[in-house]
Amino acid sequence: MYPDLNGKTVIITGAATGIGKACALRFGQEKANVVINYHSEKQVKETDEMINEIKKSGGNAISVQGDVTKEDDIKQLIKKATEEFGSLHIMINNAGIENEVPSHELSLEDWNKVISTNLTGQFLGCREALDYFLNHDIQGAIINMSSVHEIIPWPHFVHYAASKGGIKLMTQTLALEYAPKKIRINSIAPGAINTPINAEKFADPKQREGVLKLIPMGYIGEPEEIAATAVWLASNQASYVTGLTLIADGGMTLYPGFQAGKG
Ligand code: NAD
Repeated sequence: MYPDLNGKTVIITGAATGIGKACALRFGQEKANVVINYHSEKQVKETDEMINEIKKSGGNAISVQGDVTKEDDIKQLIKKATEEFGSLHIMINNAGIENEVPSHELSLEDWNKVISTNLTGQFLGCREALDYFLNHDIQGAIINMSSVHEIIPWPHFVHYAASKGGIKLMTQTLALEYAPKKIRINSIAPGAINTPINAEKFADPKQREGVLKLIPMGYIGEPEEIAATAVWLASNQASYVTGLTLIADGGMTLYPGFQAGKG
């Protein structure tokens, strides 16, 4: 547990499912004020249940609908968070999408959709949070949800890999720019995690087996294992950490092909 997170306000984008949801529930356990951003009206039931669970665990929560690709929606998200809880301390840019297409067939529309959600959406979240922190003299923390694909090339997912590679240098650049203001900006790079984005792939035993072969620790990660890294990065325990990509991947980026002395 991280006592300094008690009473802090955190916004998490794309928080109705998967990693974002696990982060929201974990910040609730830390007794933070959690602002759950969700995308689709279909996610209202889920977010209502999350609010109840967070309140039961001693935190506080509201949900705010919004599309991270829209400037006005991100501005509204910050406005609603600060109106409700008085301030903002932590911004987690988590919303992301992917789709599989051979690169020579990838439409400009699909390219733009992934880049605008995964990269531009995270930029807008960073920009608006930074603006708020600077105007209110807050030494806040920003966490961007990257991926092992900020390092590992990924055929058929060129738009996704490009977006995550972009997040890496965006995070480092902003970290450098705002370090003098003591605003910390870091990323998390999950490996293969058990969330809806992977549901179809992991339901197919052959594809699941193929993924497991890429993970030296031998299991698919749980979203709670990513949330555990997010609360640490947001807390004072990480007070001297900025510009980092924290990799949480069961060893996926350790060149598993070289295991057992191969190569
Ligand atoms: P997920 O599909 O459960 O979560 C993504 C969330 O983003 C969904 O709730 C979705 O509604 C929301 N979203 C999509 N477009 C949005 C928009 N325009 N505005 C607001 N919200 C929007 O999948 P997840 O695995 O929890 O993914 C969360 C993040 O983690 C993503 O950035 C993803 O790239 C990253 N990630 C996931 C894995 C993994 O294996 N699951 C690995 C590496 C990185």
